[in-house]
Amino acid sequence: MPDSHPRPAYTAEQALERLKAGNARFVAGEARFPTVQKEVLADLAKGQAPYATILGCSDSRVPPELVFDAGFGELFIIRVAGNVLGPTIAGTLQYAGTHLHTPLFVVMGHEGCGAVKAALARKYESAEHRSRIETLLEGIVPAFDDLDPTRPPEQLMHAAVEANVRWTLRALRESPEGKASLARGDFQLVGAVYELESGRVRFLAD
Ligand SMILES: [Zn+2]
Repeated sequence: MPDSHPRPAYTAEQALERLKAGNARFVAGEARFPTVQKEVLADLAKGQAPYATILGCSDSRVPPELVFDAGFGELFIIRVAGNVLGPTIAGTLQYAGTHLHTPLFVVMGHEGCGAVKAALARKYESAEHRSRIETLLEGIVPAFDDLDPTRPPEQLMHAAVEANVRWTLRALRESPEGKASLARGDFQLVGAVYELESGRVRFLAD
């Protein structure tokens, strides 16, 4: 079924450069987008063509539009505690890929993530949580298979945040739909970790 969505104006490489430049402005205190003009809203009402899709955490300290100094209509964002992939999240990502054609997908975790911390406690200290939270954490715990739990807590947490991002990246790459889309070169997939103290986004190397 052909769709009438406008196409994003950027390639995956250009999209990544825009995110990096936006984060650099944010870190430097030179953000451009405190608000949005009425004309921009009117234009966007006709349709959206975001250049990047971001799966991030619900944490109040990690708002992607602000962190990347992006305006309305630029980023398609999914936020869920611990940036955990689940069926409805996968559906939202698939929508972004097949209908919005965003050329870049970013899975963005963050230092000090409460969901990751809770998942660590569940795995290594058998901590118990309420039922729905348990379900959420079950989506994170398998990411820790290669972690060394004897590391100092701070290092373990740092490694766990990155492992959680890589776990989601792998799940997306290895899903039948993700595999097919990546093989066609429909989009690029990258991981990132936001640093709470500096405001900096660290993009992960493969
Ligand atoms: Zn978090």
